[in-house]
Amino acid sequence: MSAKINVDRLQEGLCTKRFGRRLCFLREVGSTNDLAKELAAKGAVEGTVVLAEKQTAGRGRLDREWISPKGGLYFSVILRPNIGASEVVKLVFVAGFAVAEVLDEVYGLRVETKWPNDVLVNGKKICGILSEMNTSGEKVNYAILGVGVNANINIGKEFPEELKAIATSLESELGRKVGLEGLFRALLERLEEVYERFLKEGFVLILEKWKRYAGFLGGQVEVVSEAGSLCGLALDVDDDGALVLRLEDGAGKRVFVGDLSLRMKNEFIRFVEGCEFGEFKRHLDRLGVYKEEGEREKLRAFLRNGLFNLIVWRKNDEVVGHAIWHESNTEEHREGDPREEEDREALRKLLGGKEDFVELHEVWLLEEHRGKGYGEKFFEFFEEYMRSKGYDGIVFYAHHPAALAICRKRGYREGGFIHIEGVAEYGFYLPLRK
Ligand code: ATP
Repeated sequence: MSAKINVDRLQEGLCTKRFGRRLCFLREVGSTNDLAKELAAKGAVEGTVVLAEKQTAGRGRLDREWISPKGGLYFSVILRPNIGASEVVKLVFVAGFAVAEVLDEVYGLRVETKWPNDVLVNGKKICGILSEMNTSGEKVNYAILGVGVNANINIGKEFPEELKAIATSLESELGRKVGLEGLFRALLERLEEVYERFLKEGFVLILEKWKRYAGFLGGQVEVVSEAGSLCGLALDVDDDGALVLRLEDGAGKRVFVGDLSLRMKNEFIRFVEGCEFGEFKRHLDRLGVYKEEGEREKLRAFLRNGLFNLIVWRKNDEVVGHAIWHESNTEEHREGDPREEEDREALRKLLGGKEDFVELHEVWLLEEHRGKGYGEKFFEFFEEYMRSKGYDGIVFYAHHPAALAICRKRGYREGGFIHIEGVAEYGFYLPLRK
């Protein structure tokens, strides 16, 4: 997979009516938005796209720089919507939702939208969106929708130090490169579809869907502008695209998209599949578990079968907790490892018969991070994650009072004590099928 875009393949199989049917492709450009504006001013039709392999003067909002090395995907679409100038801001949500859906559905990533114009994966910015317009009074002559996606970029190597902790790429998240032409087509097709629905059916429907990805809603945020900052609880995004806050003194406030940036104030925990064994070992040292070298080797061999069955909890990029899971069933603990009769019986009772399930083995969190609600966040994540992988249910064995309390609160079925490798643990089960 190369960072070079194969121009002949860009429109191959493209299923759009107008978007990308006229395409201006460049190996390098200052800013795709600037060139799109020039073309629009000369009369280019709606749906015309400017795509570049690299931008030398990529821009974000407020004239901030958008780092645009080769390997990313940078394109701008010319639009001529029949909407008022004050509504153009809604296009940012249209694009944000289209990008979020593609990254979620095509690549299975944990995507979030951040008000107003960012798409994040695992809490880090993967895509920026910039809308600009040309108007005569309230009439929109044209709008330009620019999208920059960090695709085949090695963030650790190619990004400046200050962005390494806040930016990510498809390559970093997936551990592989993606086909840029296919990504381009998928984004353009979804963008056209969402844009047309927006024009036909209105903004509310799209906004509702955008909000399903909006991880910041319900959290403490800080809205920063040149004039100062405002802290509060992010309650909603209303039908004008304004952020609805409850300020610390209890007053309500609507904040309009403008010269403002949103910062999440919550301590942010991300749940990530796998990590380097060296880093995991350092985490085990801090936890003080699996102290014997033999035990660690066993664990390492187990994880090697699929590093995917280790989930680490990262806070500001430091591993603070972990969980291990594997596929299991009522008859075998793991493949080829039969269960004791007593075990089998207890599990059948708990599950209501013979079943396959995912067994959550252990959930560990560093002492200093306990009692902050991270456990419950993990269970929320884990259940959704397993559901998305198509598993039928989760069995979890617990003895810690905090874990028992979480499972009870989340409605797990209780199965009393079950003996696992000679140790009595309390068994819980959550069916995932509706
Ligand atoms: P903020 O992210 O500060 O809330 P914003 O969402 O309005 O602001 P944009 O104007 O869309 O941000 O993007 C510019 C900012 O994004 C830059 O100031 C920089 O912090 C960051 N940035 C620049 N290039 C990239 C990139 N390729 N990937 C991720 N983040 C980037």
